[in-house]
Amino acid sequence: MTNMKTITELREAYLAGTYTPTEAIHAFTEVLKEHEKEVHAFLEVFDDLLEQAAEAEKVLKEHGAESPVLTGIPLAIKNNILIKGKKATASSKILAEYTASYDATIISKLKAAGAIFVGATNLDEFAMGSSTENSAFGPTKNPHDERRVPGGSSGGSAAAVAMGAVPAALGTDTGGSIRQPASYCGLVGYKPTYGAVSRFGLIAMGSSLDQAGPLTNSVADAELIHSIISGSDELDMTTISPDTYAEVPLKQTYTFGVPRDFLGSGVDADVMECFESQIEALKAAGHSVVDVELPLLEQGLAAYYVVMPAEVSSNLARFDGMRYGTRGKGEDLLDDYLAARAEGFGAEVKRRILLGTYVLSAGYYDAYYGKAEAVRVMMREELNKAFKTVDAIMLPTAPTPAFTFGSQEDPLSMYKQDIFTVPVNLTGVPAISIPMGTVQRDEKALPVGVQYIAPHGGDQRLFDIGKRTYDETR
Ligand code: GLN
Repeated sequence: MTNMKTITELREAYLAGTYTPTEAIHAFTEVLKEHEKEVHAFLEVFDDLLEQAAEAEKVLKEHGAESPVLTGIPLAIKNNILIKGKKATASSKILAEYTASYDATIISKLKAAGAIFVGATNLDEFAMGSSTENSAFGPTKNPHDERRVPGGSSGGSAAAVAMGAVPAALGTDTGGSIRQPASYCGLVGYKPTYGAVSRFGLIAMGSSLDQAGPLTNSVADAELIHSIISGSDELDMTTISPDTYAEVPLKQTYTFGVPRDFLGSGVDADVMECFESQIEALKAAGHSVVDVELPLLEQGLAAYYVVMPAEVSSNLARFDGMRYGTRGKGEDLLDDYLAARAEGFGAEVKRRILLGTYVLSAGYYDAYYGKAEAVRVMMREELNKAFKTVDAIMLPTAPTPAFTFGSQEDPLSMYKQDIFTVPVNLTGVPAISIPMGTVQRDEKALPVGVQYIAPHGGDQRLFDIGKRTYDETR
């Protein structure tokens, strides 16, 4: 077993010859033996890991520091990201038998960088959820307290890193699915500027909201993975080049804006205490922290739960048992479709398809979908205005620490977990979640995260803030 938690440490040890990819794979297997039965982070563990490790060792021997930067680094991949020849189930019954016939762009990039993919991680079905309880293949547990959820939807990826199996994992974030599990599991989670990372080869949830990003133990590692997977891609017309936005400069000291009114009463008192000490630490380091008014943030949840299901209903139309998905067996063609979708989708997915179809229907489009899109534009304007006076906005990532299984059974109370994360996806700005301490629940110390939000294209600023406030004090 190794106590090396970061990619940076592993890389240094590989180059110094004090540790090898084969040892890293053995350590991974050991952690799995100890925890995976209980935690269930993985839907599949790939079987050629030692061969891949041997190959990586050859490359390291031959090229040393010139070798690709992730050579021999084990990574876990959320199972809604396509890896050629591997199952891509999105944790749905309807895709239980689907094998990807090509690599997602981000997977090709990570392969070229030398990474070893150790396995596919669990998620809420089609990334819809905040707890991983919606997976068709059973929930994932939080390694910090197995009575509790790891967050979601990238709960498997978060648990894989938190239990020490891998130094980093990939997730996707449509409304918080990287940041919230990072917060619940004590990790760094990064949601890039919309368009910074290619969505080609991701199983789509909400196309105007989805972005892929890393879950890691350090901000430097998140930056490293982001630098590898980002960049414009001719296979995804929504990707943008880094110079699309005005430069977002790095500064010696930053001004952080706190939307006090938005924090209101919904945040647990001890989570709020952690947040306040974060503010004090920033001030002590010479930064300033001021209040900002962002009244529209409060509309985020309502707008998200209209826009997202609308896009879900359209994106998931392709799973009909003919073009995609396990074939349904009915009396006639229509029946086949109905059977495929009725049997293949879980309750939450159906709920969102129904809601989405409703808000897009001729009679309701203007009242719901049109309004939600208008709110989005206004939120973006409001944020841009705030960024004229502050360099970043800060919020707790989630109002509570990880909750217990079954405690948010009512879908609306589950949706409320996303209150601080969805405005970011609606407006397309980048955000990072960084551990900010722990709170006690049932005699366990549970991690909670702080979220920093930067203007469009401000990804580097977030890494700078994160490295200075977290990596350097770890
Ligand atoms: N929890 C949110 C939802 O259920 C976010 C999901 C996500 O980011 N994929 O929609």
